[in-house]
Amino acid sequence: MPLPLDIRKKPIDVKVHISTGAGVDITWSDAHVSHYDFPYLREHCPCATCKETHEGHTKVEAKTAGSSVLPMFKPKIAARAASTVGTYAVQIEFTDGHSTGIYSFDHLREICPCEACAREFRPVQTG
Ligand SMILES: [Zn+2]
Ligand SMILES: [Zn+2]
Repeated sequence: MPLPLDIRKKPIDVKVHISTGAGVDITWSDAHVSHYDFPYLREHCPCATCKETHEGHTKVEAKTAGSSVLPMFKPKIAARAASTVGTYAVQIEFTDGHSTGIYSFDHLREICPCEACAREFRPVQTG
């Protein structure tokens, strides 16, 4: 059902707050405003490597096994740099050195953490 030119997935304003580490704010054509934290974006990185990791947990799991007594302190991930890719995406370089993730606005609207978008774009399939 989604048409290729869904205005809900067209940003009219994109702000990446690198120096404050506040994350990314996007205002969409339908006046909706989305806010993303950098750790959230890092988790939802759409690149092939991360997708593989999301799907095949085994690699990561094996590494952390045995150190499960206390959760390890992880420094909060932020962004080192960001740039737009044409008119359709934004690329973010994270402080953990990862920079291959290209976040298309399509993808970003779909992962908008707000409830309305969750209902709209990520319908929960219950029972
Ligand atoms: Zn990635
Ligand atoms: Zn939203």
